[in-house]
Amino acid sequence: MNSYKIALLDGDGIGPEIMTEAVKILNLVAERNKVNFELTHASFGANAYFEAGHPFPASTKSICDEADAILKGPIGLSHEESQKIPVDMQPERGALLPLRRRYNTYANFRPVYLPKDLAHFSPLKPEIIGDGIDIMIIRELVGGLYFGHKETGINEDGRRYVKETLEYDEDQIKRIMQVAFKTAQKRKKVLHNIHKSNVLKSSVLWNEICVEVGQNFPEVEVINILVDAAATYLCLNPRMFDVMVMENMFGDILSDQAGGILGSLGLMPSACIGPDKAYYEPSHGSAPDIAGKNIANPYSMIGSVAMMLEMSFNMDHEAKNLWQAMQSVFAGGYSTSDLSKPDSGVTMVSTSEFGDKVVEKLAGMEIPNQVSE
Ligand code: NAD
Repeated sequence: MNSYKIALLDGDGIGPEIMTEAVKILNLVAERNKVNFELTHASFGANAYFEAGHPFPASTKSICDEADAILKGPIGLSHEESQKIPVDMQPERGALLPLRRRYNTYANFRPVYLPKDLAHFSPLKPEIIGDGIDIMIIRELVGGLYFGHKETGINEDGRRYVKETLEYDEDQIKRIMQVAFKTAQKRKKVLHNIHKSNVLKSSVLWNEICVEVGQNFPEVEVINILVDAAATYLCLNPRMFDVMVMENMFGDILSDQAGGILGSLGLMPSACIGPDKAYYEPSHGSAPDIAGKNIANPYSMIGSVAMMLEMSFNMDHEAKNLWQAMQSVFAGGYSTSDLSKPDSGVTMVSTSEFGDKVVEKLAGMEIPNQVSE
C-alpha cells in the first residue's frame, strides 16, 4: 500500500473550516484507493504567532520537511488585527514567504476554470463568459519584488524612505518559462506572456528569456501582452487566454482578478511546486469577514487537494473524479453564499454541507483501478 505523509497547515480565518472539508475528502480518497495518508496538523500563520511566538514555528518546519506534500489553508488577519503583530512576524512576511523560500516553490499553477454548467456564477455578461473559461495562470513565486532586498530608514533630508528591489536572474526566468511552455504544449499551444517591458527592465530580460526558451518549443505560439492590457482583456474577453505566464506580483494581482471573473475567490485553488517539495493552497486569503460562520466556499481547498493528488501522488484519475464531484454539486443546483444570492433559484449550502455533498458524489464514482507509484 502506498503511504504518503501530508502536513496540514490549517491557517487563520476560514482556514480551519475549509481544511476540515479537505480532510473529509482525503480520508475518503485514502479508503477508496487503498492508500495511506498520514495527516499531521501543524500551526502556521497568525494563530502560530499568538500560540508559539512565531508564525512559522520550528516544529511546523520539521513536520513540513518530513512531509511528502503540504496542504496549506489561507493565513492572515484583518488589516486592523494585523497591527497587533510586529511587521516582520505578520503572516505573509513571517510565514508564507519563508515557506516558499524554504522549498523553492517557484512554479505556481492557478487554474481559472468555470465549466459551462457553472458559467452562471460569473458576473460577466453571458455573451462574454459564453460556455465558460479554462485558463492556467503560471506565476513565478519566489522572485521579484516580494523577495528582493528591502530597506527602510531616514534619508539625508530627514525623511522616512523605503526601498524594495525587483530582482530576477536569467535562471529564475528560464525555469518558469520552461514550465509555462511545457504546459502550453500540453494544452492549446498558445502562451500569453505577460510583461511590462515598456517601463520595467526586469520585463525586458523576462521577454528575452521567453524568446530564447521558446526556440525549443517552436509549436507554441507566444502572444506578448502588457500586464495592464491583460487586466482589461481578462474582463472583456477572458476566453482569448489559455496559458498565461507572469512574474510574481503580476500573478498575485491578475489571479485575484481572475477569481473575480469566475464569481468568487472561493473557486481558486493552486499548486506551488519546487524541485523537491510542493505545497497546495487556495489562492485567496483568510477571509476574516466570513470566518467562523460555516459559509466559506471550500472548493478552493478541495481543488487544492485534487491538484495534490495529481501533481504529488500521480493519482490523476481520482483527481479528475474529485473535480467532477465538486462541479456536479454546483451543477445540481446547489451554491455556496459567495456565488449566488439566496433568491436566485439555487439551494444554498454551508461549508460543511458542500463538503458532505462532494463526499457523497465521490463515493459513488468509479474507483480508479490502479494507482501508480
Ligand atoms: P481574501 O482573499 O481573504 O478575501 C477577499 C474576499 O473574498 C472577501 O470578501 C472574502 O470573504 C472572499 N473570499 C475569499 N475566499 C473565500 C471563500 N473560500 N469562500 C467565500 N468567500 C471567499 O482577501 P483579504 O480580505 O484582502 O485578506 C484577508 C487576509 O488574508 C489578509 O491578512 C491577507 O494578508 C491574507 N492573505 C493570505 C493569502 C495566503 O494565505 N496565501 C493570500 C491572500 C491574502
